Amino acid sequence: MADTIFGRIVRGELPISFLHNDEVCVAFPDNAPQAPIHVLIIPRQPFEDIIEADDQTIGHIMNVAAQLGEKMCPEGFRLVTNTGHDGGQTVQHWHVHLLGGRELGWPPG
Ligand code: AMP
Repeated sequence: MADTIFGRIVRGELPISFLHNDEVCVAFPDNAPQAPIHVLIIPRQPFEDIIEADDQTIGHIMNVAAQLGEKMCPEGFRLVTNTGHDGGQTVQHWHVHLLGGRELGWPPG
């Protein structure tokens, strides 16, 4: 698994305040937000994508994402995990986007 900018973030090498931080994952604001609320939830372990991640980590991260969504976006939210080239994944360290704070269009992209 190649190191990425998210590897540096989980190791605390960049000055980023975490919105959530536990033994499995961290959450922090996306630095190019696509909605008023745009948070990334990423595992500490650098899985390349959701295909590589194990069930327990996937379950934990989706739970944390849903709890943050409930708290930060009471009117509703969207969880997205871009995967591979066609999915628009640009950072090869699995992450879930939490988007909300406005009505989101569908279909995306
Ligand atoms: P994706 O395109 O699905 O792989 O998502 C990668 C996301 O990471 C994009 O929304 C970027 O804006 C975000 N991102 C990249 N570098 C940083 C960073 N240093 N801090 C916060 N968000 C970042």
